[in-house]
Amino acid sequence: MQIMTVSDRIMDRLYNSQLDERYRDIDLLISCGDLPYYYLEFLLSALNTSLVYVRGNHDGGPQYTADGRTLNRPQGGADLHGRVINHNGLLIAGLEGSMRYKPSAPLMYSEGQMAVQVAALTLKLLRITSYQGRNLDILVTHSPPFGIHDEPDLAHTGFKAFLPLIRFFKPRYHFHGHVHIYRNDTFRETTYKQTKIINVYPLGLFEIDS
Ligand SMILES: [Zn+2]
Repeated sequence: MQIMTVSDRIMDRLYNSQLDERYRDIDLLISCGDLPYYYLEFLLSALNTSLVYVRGNHDGGPQYTADGRTLNRPQGGADLHGRVINHNGLLIAGLEGSMRYKPSAPLMYSEGQMAVQVAALTLKLLRITSYQGRNLDILVTHSPPFGIHDEPDLAHTGFKAFLPLIRFFKPRYHFHGHVHIYRNDTFRETTYKQTKIINVYPLGLFEIDS
């Protein structure tokens, strides 16, 4: 299955009517957040594919488009937060948001609040993986795990709660965004136990067997 991942930055080479040939056969588009809904809707239509996404810390509130529409969600996509989806044989789960760095702002979670989200997702995953007799294939989050691709400031600190989730369910891939990459020598891919953890900022292409 050909998978495109996007996160955090609008790419001019995608956001135009002359889409490159190599983007013609995308089976699934995954957004790791902090992207405008109109952009995701454009990609969904231009790539003629399916979309699953999590929201980032900058995705709160209704979004207003140039043609006067109000968007609360990207139309046609599936929000992965706290959910497990089977997409053509690939088991995919997701968690939105970033570390809380402003009180009461939406789409931000303290470590304890995220641990609650992870516990709820764990129960669903236990049920679904045992019922379907298969493992989690892809974990999608906006933030990275603690200590992997994260940064020392509070806003970009990763979540410790993701680490036991990854160790227990052993997804083949963990895609995240949130941490912008400005240097070529920045780590964007780390193997943790059996999982490839990848900072997809701003665009990635993956061939994954279902
Ligand atoms: Zn972010």
